[in-house]
Amino acid sequence: MVALDASNIKLNNRKRIIKLLSVEREVTKLDISRKLDISVPTVSTIILELIKEGIVEEAGMASSTGGRKPVIIKFLPNSRYSIGVNLDSGSVKAVLTNLDGDIICRLDKELMDISETCVLKTMKELIETLMSKCDKDKQCMGVGFSLPGTIDEKNMRLDFAANFKLNNLAFKDLQADFNVPMYLENEANAGALAEWQLGLAKDKNNVIYISISQGVGGGFIIDKKMYKGSERRAGEIGHMTINKNGRACNCGKKGCWETYASQRALISDYNQLTKKNVRHLEDVVRAYRNNEVPAQQVLKNYIEDLAEGIKNLMFIFNPDYIIIGGEISRYSDIFSSALIEKVFDNNVFYKKEDVNILFSSLDGDANILGAAIIPIVEGFGFTDI
Ligand SMILES: [Zn+2]
Repeated sequence: MVALDASNIKLNNRKRIIKLLSVEREVTKLDISRKLDISVPTVSTIILELIKEGIVEEAGMASSTGGRKPVIIKFLPNSRYSIGVNLDSGSVKAVLTNLDGDIICRLDKELMDISETCVLKTMKELIETLMSKCDKDKQCMGVGFSLPGTIDEKNMRLDFAANFKLNNLAFKDLQADFNVPMYLENEANAGALAEWQLGLAKDKNNVIYISISQGVGGGFIIDKKMYKGSERRAGEIGHMTINKNGRACNCGKKGCWETYASQRALISDYNQLTKKNVRHLEDVVRAYRNNEVPAQQVLKNYIEDLAEGIKNLMFIFNPDYIIIGGEISRYSDIFSSALIEKVFDNNVFYKKEDVNILFSSLDGDANILGAAIIPIVEGFGFTDI
């Protein structure tokens, strides 16, 4: 165990107090002292600092059983902002959120082409616009990026994004343009963070988040910590082989899970069967709801393939929750029960009640919200509480 020196202890107490306030919203200093086992004078000193910084305020008196009425300290979620940026198929999306992850402003811009110059220029424009919406006295805590590939966080680089044909996308110059901290994260890790902090898997011990978009990615919370692996490359679940002589994947292999279970695969299977050329998931869903046989067939096969990968993950990780995110989560009513049935059908290891398989409740925003809360989590130091 590492001994904490006085300044570390103070910093740690500060983090714990902010975290408690962000959860409890309104609390007295005595409550804080009791709940966190920190002395009242120390709590008072830290609260005074937080009041000066505008993160909390005094909000009236609590009732008292005798003696002086204690002052209520109130958390102010709109005292700071954060920005999340997501690189999607053909577009960049950006959001401005408050400390609760509530979206205050949302921007979306189509990419003229998928090149380093165009992607970075578009991101810069969107960040500038969102920064200009921040009140001068309310500091922006930073920008988080949710990116579809392997990330080199230290060198601020997107190393490799197979489905975008993008390599070595450098964010250092972009960081130099803005005087705030910036964080790069794989989109599935960002989504996992959002589900774990804000979504259905809030504070659960073991969570797998499956991000379904152009490809399929995974983010893992294991024993209440995000697991990224030794080179921070864990979670490439879309490239698990489910059919060794199967479809050709953008990674160069055959039969990767995402060639069957991605949103792109679903749309392309539908187009192949119907000789149509739809581009959006909602077109396939509409056809399904209209009882069109090809759409029903394609969805049935899709759900079977999705279930195969989910079973593999379940056997390896034994999670409490598996959350499926991406646009598909908006249509959980047509996927959910059939998927759960497939996953637990002939499954001698798990019964339905053992693992919760849910579709994200964040309306397709898990990845970008996860990106937006990284500067908050890092800025307040919640990662190592
Ligand atoms: Zn692959």
